[in-house]
Amino acid sequence: MKTQSHKMTVSIDEHTSHLEPLRAFYQALDAEGVTIEKLPSERREHYQLQAINLTLEHIWNHNDYYRAALMEAGITSPSIASLAQLDTIPLLRKDVIRGDKMKLLCVEPKQIGQVHLTSGTSGKPIYTSYTLADQYVYDLMPKYLELFPDSDSDVVAIALPYEFALPGLGFQRLFQFAFGTAVLSLGKGGYMAPVDKSLELMKEYQATILTTTPSYAALLAEESEKYGIKPGVDIKLRRIILTGEGCSYTFRKRLEQWWNCEVSFFYGSTECGVVAIECKEHAGYHVAEGHVFMEIVDPDTGAALGYDKTGEIVLTTLLREGMPMVRYRSGDIGYMQRSKCACGTTMDVLHLRGRMENMIRLEGDDYSPFMLEQFLLEVPDVSFWYHFIVEQGKLTIEVEPFRTALTDEKLAKKVRRKMADAIGIDCKVVVRRDIPRTFGKATRVIIR
Ligand SMILES: [Zn+2]
Repeated sequence: MKTQSHKMTVSIDEHTSHLEPLRAFYQALDAEGVTIEKLPSERREHYQLQAINLTLEHIWNHNDYYRAALMEAGITSPSIASLAQLDTIPLLRKDVIRGDKMKLLCVEPKQIGQVHLTSGTSGKPIYTSYTLADQYVYDLMPKYLELFPDSDSDVVAIALPYEFALPGLGFQRLFQFAFGTAVLSLGKGGYMAPVDKSLELMKEYQATILTTTPSYAALLAEESEKYGIKPGVDIKLRRIILTGEGCSYTFRKRLEQWWNCEVSFFYGSTECGVVAIECKEHAGYHVAEGHVFMEIVDPDTGAALGYDKTGEIVLTTLLREGMPMVRYRSGDIGYMQRSKCACGTTMDVLHLRGRMENMIRLEGDDYSPFMLEQFLLEVPDVSFWYHFIVEQGKLTIEVEPFRTALTDEKLAKKVRRKMADAIGIDCKVVVRRDIPRTFGKATRVIIR
């Protein structure tokens, strides 16, 4: 006969894994009244080295693919003596795990608590399996009180995908279990929560925080006017947390004005969870060094680049038993700096430049779409909705007018001149009024 196992209680109170030694580290921090984000870096690096070695031993003992890859790299014992030695461990490419549910699994299949999938916009999805302890115990051990100054008196509206993807459920767990916050699980325009109902709910429950993508924050603001709800007046948010898509500082500034609140960026992924979080200084993201170890590598050679050099972001998860990611090539571009941040957080600062595949190559130079967006949206007559179309090395920008008296011809001329001044590139500008709104990931860059 089958009986209920009360798995949640078992997972939290009686669960043990290779990560248990790290619990003592966090208990010591709690006892001292400090968080990992403000520790001197040597002490945090000591923790990271311990977490990496525990993870290396775990994958060596519990996963055939990882062990074979390590052995092929000439590794006979799964441990490193310093963080600098992590570059002796092979890099993990996305195409190796794309579409494969089991390759990186390090626990028995029946121990899986939840499976998340990437959206698969660039091919087959990537599956990541988490144990209950991963999500409800280990993921919540590091505290970032400077970066998440939220409390149980907040009401959080989560307008992120809940189906398969990590973002909706990930933020839900964080706010409910770490902060005891009331959560409005809006999703993104699904059957149960179309835009008008989402806006009404945020108004009725007086949401103070909204977590969503940049394009959906824009769409909600735009649509609210149709329903007679005024952002900043009827819905008084304290802050918006943007994730899922990157955006430029001008895009953010416009959202801040429209919603009349602070807007900050959060960088995470379905594979690696929380990666980096912006603080109130808004001068880059602090790497969530309790959860991940970040490296920047040359995308062509895989060589580690260290600080201040732009390259591909490589991540090693520190608190995972189900499916740890070790030296995972994220496909995102950025550079890291040592923190000198006024907020007091000592965790490294990441400057994110976007996805590698979205880089726009014009006349032999690569441009980040966020940088181009930054200049484009400095033209106030242009709306949040646009396309960068790259065809045979030439750039066409499709724009929509926004609260402007300019004729289409004058608007196109203004945008063309702005881009020529900013990047020295002559582009074609097409004014449209029908750029599609999206409930999925906004497509900004079209490469033909
Ligand atoms: Zn800071």
